[in-house]
Amino acid sequence: MASPSTDLHFILVPLMAQGHMIPMIDIARLLAERGATVTIITTPVNANRYRSVIDRAIEANLKIQVLELQLELAKVGLPEGCECFDLLPSAALKHNLFEAIAMLEESAENVIRGLIPPANCIISDSGFPWTTDVATRLGIPRLVFYGPGCFAFLCIHMVANSDILDRVESDLDYFVLPGLPDRIEITRAQASGWGRGDEKSKERFERMEKAGKAAYGIVVNSFEELEDKYVEEFAKAKGKKVWCIGPVSLCNKSFLDIAERGEKGAINERDCLKWLDSRESGSVVYVCLGSLTHSSMEQSIEVAMGLELSNVPFIWFTRDKEGELEKWVSKEGYEERIKDRGLIVRGWAPQILILSHRAVGGFITHCGWNSTLEGISAGIPMVTWPHFAEQFLNERFIVDVLKIGVRIGTEVPVSFGVQEKNEVTVKMEDVKKAVEDLMNDKEESKERRRRAKKLGEMAKRAMENGGSSQLNMTLMIQDVIEKLANKTILVQEIV
Ligand code: UDP
Repeated sequence: MASPSTDLHFILVPLMAQGHMIPMIDIARLLAERGATVTIITTPVNANRYRSVIDRAIEANLKIQVLELQLELAKVGLPEGCECFDLLPSAALKHNLFEAIAMLEESAENVIRGLIPPANCIISDSGFPWTTDVATRLGIPRLVFYGPGCFAFLCIHMVANSDILDRVESDLDYFVLPGLPDRIEITRAQASGWGRGDEKSKERFERMEKAGKAAYGIVVNSFEELEDKYVEEFAKAKGKKVWCIGPVSLCNKSFLDIAERGEKGAINERDCLKWLDSRESGSVVYVCLGSLTHSSMEQSIEVAMGLELSNVPFIWFTRDKEGELEKWVSKEGYEERIKDRGLIVRGWAPQILILSHRAVGGFITHCGWNSTLEGISAGIPMVTWPHFAEQFLNERFIVDVLKIGVRIGTEVPVSFGVQEKNEVTVKMEDVKKAVEDLMNDKEESKERRRRAKKLGEMAKRAMENGGSSQLNMTLMIQDVIEKLANKTILVQEIV
């Protein structure tokens, strides 16, 4: 059965972070494949990063365009070019970037008003609460896109709407999250980022919550079969329609779209495949901690040693801004030592290309939602190493709900961005043990692999014709069409 088509014009406003831009670009493609016109609003540096991906989509006759708006970086004290969270020189500057983003409201509205054909619907990241006001003034619906899945957002909702964090005695004691379908335990330290923290973060969270309440519906990169109870409870808690339309990464079909998702990889894709081709099926551990984490050199050395000790083949993508790790690697002759079974690459990983290779049998992940879902889609069990934000919740989901993960054992969040010098939260023995537990042949590990494989098959089915995510995309489009026809969305609240 072919997917119903549409001539709607969607405006997509992704947050300037790889973990938000990448899935939004996939959503743009999915909508354009239904015949929709899609305009992505972003800034020049971000537009540049995704230019080749979007150009390929345009060449394939998809009606996608990018409109570039300038952030007033100097006004908020940011250096030129700092248009994305991973480009900030320090984590403390994230408020400045949010401030600059908040100033885009007027210019965004002006460009949207000038569009032909006229815009019919805005899908914006939760980080742009002002898009609700813009949509209201334009008389079109605004759907909100939350980066993480329903499980994490339901947990955050439950915490934000109860006084549970005030009732726990210490930051490190585990407590049971209230009102959830499963028993999920977390500490206050792990939950500290959700609407708490400093005044600016609290204000922003409240504004996003308010805009979320005014939004017409919620778009989630997930699939119903993965977290059905949580999708239902999340929709109930928010009192909104929730459309799970993912895993959106599975919309990438051509070699280049799979290999160059986000950025160009730091390794030639063919060399990477050649290396993987030479390995036994399911034998390799892939290590990548997302786009925002920057381990200290001391932490990276622990990872290096742990991987070496584990005796398992690995491909490890790491960031080494200062070149300090590089010095250690050459001084120790590390690459020579591991050359028969390990590959270390500095820079951006062609993640879904690697995850979908038959040789990969395990993934050490920081539990960002996209990486989590990409691991699930590839049917691969994971070693969970959360760092910050909602990553500890994603770890709970992988380990306790889905039962496809092994914890590396870290308990306390690290700060977003570059890790402090000397900061080590995970020791080489932890890395070794987690990798061995994941990759060994014990019944428990085999069972984990079976479960992961089944979830991978379910993920693919959800995105196929007749699958739940494909159907949800149809329902979402139909809903927008109906609302436009009877204009009930005009009652959206101004925030
Ligand atoms: N990613 C990638 N190569 C890298 C690092 C990240 O392709 O070297 C992609 C990854 O596939 C995912 C996104 O960047 O789609 C990261 O999003 P996630 O939510 O996992 O984590 P974040 O980077 O936001 O912490």
